Amino acid sequence: MTTPKICDTILDAIGHTPLVRVNRLTAGVIDADVFIKLETFNPGNSIKDRMALKMIEDAERAGALKPGGTIIEGTSGNTGMGLAIAAVVRGYKCIFTTTDKQSKEKIDALRAFGADVIVCPTDVDGFSVSKKLEKAGNWASDTAELFFEDVRVPKRYLVGQEGMGFMYLMQNFQSERLVGCVSGLSGAKLALDRSVQWGRERSAFGKPLIKREYWQQKLVELYTKYEAAKALSYNACAAYNDDKYVNSGMISMETTRLVSMAKAYVGDVTAEILDQCVQFHGGMGYLEELWVARAWRDARLFRIGGGTTEVMRYAVARIMGF
Ligand SMILES: Cc1cc2nc3c(=O)[nH]c(=O)nc-3n(C[C@H](O)[C@H](O)[C@H](O)COP(=O)(O)OP(=O)(O)OC[C@H]3O[C@@H](n4cnc5c(N)ncnc54)[C@H](O)[C@@H]3O)c2cc1C
Repeated sequence: MTTPKICDTILDAIGHTPLVRVNRLTAGVIDADVFIKLETFNPGNSIKDRMALKMIEDAERAGALKPGGTIIEGTSGNTGMGLAIAAVVRGYKCIFTTTDKQSKEKIDALRAFGADVIVCPTDVDGFSVSKKLEKAGNWASDTAELFFEDVRVPKRYLVGQEGMGFMYLMQNFQSERLVGCVSGLSGAKLALDRSVQWGRERSAFGKPLIKREYWQQKLVELYTKYEAAKALSYNACAAYNDDKYVNSGMISMETTRLVSMAKAYVGDVTAEILDQCVQFHGGMGYLEELWVARAWRDARLFRIGGGTTEVMRYAVARIMGF
């Protein structure tokens, strides 16, 4: 019998979720051990507990979160729960905003952990939501337009300083764009690696496609662009972290310049890589039964969402005084 692990606090339980072997789905299909990690067994019932704890520990290490500090989060999912659990153990105050679309049970649970939850009503004059929009890609994420027409907001719902909303939005865009860089590039790298595998397995005109000089030249060119885009993104991430956690907490114009450059370049490189990966797969690349057609459609958004490539360059030009 194994000795049970004793946790000093509930936070020690985060991430120690069971691995369950998948038996029936893989039998006779693949010769490999496949496991599912049951993240729902985290204290807050989701994988977000890990992220919340990591964010708090990073902020503590950087000195941004000190004893008695306050954590503010707009929450519609499970991050709030993870933050509330970690905050109650570490002695921080939490202020969360959410909407009345959130389940009462979730709001009650957040409050039970001591969080101050501001519930914004959606049934108000002037606010409406369009029907779900049909998109070319990213079908797993629902998208709709939110309309605010002469909406009056009571003072008690004010978060942050009055008149600073646009500034908060612009500051937040920098982290959103960096997340876009990282997710775009990781998808592009996966697509390249899988294309290499395809080139090894598929032969045409007497030898594997990967042995064709054109394939080799194109792959090296794209891996090089991927590495260049990654280095640019890491540079922008470092500048962002310095501003956010070491310096003033405000994102500087220089960092905005680097983030905008990275977002523009990554968007173009990701789209180029995915387009070529479709080409590498020939006719199969255009069929829905292969992963690459979907990845190509989804990757197209990186040149548009969070600010288009052109607008990123426009911002850089203005910062550089052109
Ligand atoms: C799937 C999806 C999800 C989205 N999610 C969100 C969201 O959660 N929140 C949110 O606020 N928005 C969201 N958006 C909106 C998105 O941020 C905008 O669509 C994007 O920033 C482009 O703005 P626009 O559509 O108004 O394009 P427009 O401004 O109409 O631009 C049209 C074209 O003109 C170019 N252009 C515009 N201005 C200039 C210029 N000064 N110089 C050169 N070229 C220029 C653009 O680059 C583009 O090619 C989402 C969009 C999509 C497709």
